[in-house]
Amino acid sequence: IIIAENVHKWYGKFHVLQGVSLSVNRGEVVVIMGPSGSGKSTFIRTFNALEEYQKGSIIIDGITLSHDLRNIDAIRQEVGMVFQQFNLFPHLTVLQNITLAPIWVRRWSKAKAEELAMQLLERVGILEQAQKYPGQLSGGQQQRVAIARALAMQPKIMLFDEPTSALDPEMVREVLDVMRSLARDGMTMVVVTHEVGFAREVADRVILMDSGSLVESATPDIFFTNPQEDRTRQFLSQIL
Ligand code: ATP
Ligand code: MG
Repeated sequence: IIIAENVHKWYGKFHVLQGVSLSVNRGEVVVIMGPSGSGKSTFIRTFNALEEYQKGSIIIDGITLSHDLRNIDAIRQEVGMVFQQFNLFPHLTVLQNITLAPIWVRRWSKAKAEELAMQLLERVGILEQAQKYPGQLSGGQQQRVAIARALAMQPKIMLFDEPTSALDPEMVREVLDVMRSLARDGMTMVVVTHEVGFAREVADRVILMDSGSLVESATPDIFFTNPQEDRTRQFLSQIL
């Protein structure tokens, strides 16, 4: 459902993505790890056209994401994204945050959008918070709203960029639980995270990126216990 081939990107002279290739099958969960600055965020942001790239090709569910970003609207409807900072609209209620895009982009009626939003809030376990504002919620609750908001567009793929990094430790689990259940329901997911437990349990594949290149791609079992690359061993010795 994602085919990225030999993707290159430069920020001025800085070669941030140096020919990265990755294929993700429908229903697969891929975890991307790697040191700070290795290009993880930049890479996954190319999948929903938040970042342009200069060379290579990306095809999402049969839609070619051309360099000139022609298919940007089509892609954005298929690919949901959740960020480290929740990026909720502070002046809108939880319910309004979730229904905004379905009403304005999908042209759904308010009633239909709210019905789906309530189902999603139930799914992420915060139905009772629907009328509150983001500032009245805990970090873990806000991130679950952000997940529900992305799901409200009924995406085929969900991208997560360090979704638990800004959370207090006791709230990490409630967010990972939601992600785990999404994966179980067959969502295609690409997740940048350093949560080793999540990667071991949920990922079909774990990838190490370093300096704009893909270093290793393996099942979690092999990645964490018997990696093939020295660079992976070195990275794991720092995080395990
Ligand atoms: P982290 O783990 O810290 O989130 P990352 O692997 O996600 O790191 P990126 O955010 O993709 O890394 O950044 C890769 C490199 O590109 C970094 O060296 C960063 O400084 C650089 N970079 C990112 N955005 C820009 C930009 N808009 N202009 C110039 N350089 C940038
Ligand atoms: Mg990043």
